[in-house]
Amino acid sequence: MDVWSDLIGQERAVAELKRALAGGPHAMTHAWLITGPPGSGRSNAARAFAAALQCDNGGCGECKSCRTSLAGSHPDVTLVRTETLTIGVDEVRELAMKAAMSPSVGKRQIIVVEDADRITDRGADALLKSLEEPAPRTVWLLCAPSAEDVIVTIRSRCRHLGLVTPSTQAICELLQRRDGIDPKLAEWAARVSGGHVGKARGLALDPQARAWRDEVLELPGKLRSVAACLTLADGIIKKTKERADATSKPLDDKETEALKEALGAGTKGAKPRSLNAALKDLEDQQKLRNKRLQRDAIDQVLIDLTGYYRDVLKVQTGAGGALVNEEQRPAISALAESSNADDTLAKIDALAQCHRSLGFNASPGLAFQALLLTLR
Ligand SMILES: [Zn+2]
Repeated sequence: MDVWSDLIGQERAVAELKRALAGGPHAMTHAWLITGPPGSGRSNAARAFAAALQCDNGGCGECKSCRTSLAGSHPDVTLVRTETLTIGVDEVRELAMKAAMSPSVGKRQIIVVEDADRITDRGADALLKSLEEPAPRTVWLLCAPSAEDVIVTIRSRCRHLGLVTPSTQAICELLQRRDGIDPKLAEWAARVSGGHVGKARGLALDPQARAWRDEVLELPGKLRSVAACLTLADGIIKKTKERADATSKPLDDKETEALKEALGAGTKGAKPRSLNAALKDLEDQQKLRNKRLQRDAIDQVLIDLTGYYRDVLKVQTGAGGALVNEEQRPAISALAESSNADDTLAKIDALAQCHRSLGFNASPGLAFQALLLTLR
C-alpha cells in the first residue's frame, strides 16, 4: 500500500502530483491549493503528497518518512488543523517563521493548512510574503472546499489541484478493504453519506451516529403543529450541543491538564497570574471549538434533511430509481402524496436558507424553529 492507495476516485489529481514529483516540464511548485468538496479527502491528499515529497521512493508508504508524514509526526511536516472558526495573524506568522527554516531531517519543509478558507484577512497578508519569497526547500499545501473560499491574493499564488467527489461504489469498497466493514453496511453508509468518506466511515463504525441519523429523518413526519415544531427544534439543537460536548469535553480536559502541568501549577515556582491568563486563553479557544463542532452537527442535520426532501421530490416527479434513503421509502412516499413538488422545492430552499443564516451567526435555536415551521 503506497501513500496514494486511500485517495479513492482521485486518479487525475494523483497523476498530477506524481508528475510534479517526477520533475520535468510539470515540475514542483512551492505553493499548492488543494480543493474538493467536504469528505473528498483534501487533507489526506495533502498528507500523502507531503509523505511522497519526503520519501526517497516517491511515497512508498512503508519507510519512516512516509509513516511519520502521514501520522503528522514528521519534524519537517507541520499539519495545521484548526478547531476554531478562524486562523488569525499570530498563528500564520508562526507558520511563516517555520516556513523560512530549512528542513531538519527531511528533504523539504512542508506546511499543510487544512482549512485555508479560515485564514483571516490579516492572516492572509502575513502569509503572502512567505508565498512571494519562498525559502528554497519549503512547500505550502493549502486545503479548502473551493478556490473561491480562499482570499484571492493567496489563491493567485498557488497551483490549483482539484479533487472530485468519490463515487458511492469507491467509498463502499474502501470501507470494506480498509475498515473491514461488512458489505451491506458499507453499501448503506456509502450511499447515504453523499460522497463524504469520513461521514460514511463514521456511520459505518458508530451505532450512535446511525441512531441519531434515524432520529433526524423522523423529523419530517412529526411536524404536526406549531407547538410540536418548536419543541422538536429545541430538542434537535440540544442534541447537537450534547454531541459537540461529547467530542470536546475529553479534549478540553486533556488540554487543560497539559497546560497546568507545563506551567507548573501547584508547584513552588508557579506564577499564578500567567497561568490564569493562559488558562483563560485556552478556555476561549475551547469554547470556539465547541461552537464549531455544534455548527458542524447542525449542518449535518440540514444535509440529511435535504437528502430526505430530495427523495420526496424524486417520488413526486416520478424520476424513478433508488432513493438515497431507500429504507425510509414508505414515509417518503406518504409525504410525497400529501404535498406537491413546488412545496418540496420551497422546503429544500428553506434548508439552504437556514444553512446560510447560521453562517451569518444567527441563533441556531431561532433559525431551526423558523426552519421547522416552514417545513411543516
Ligand atoms: Zn516512503
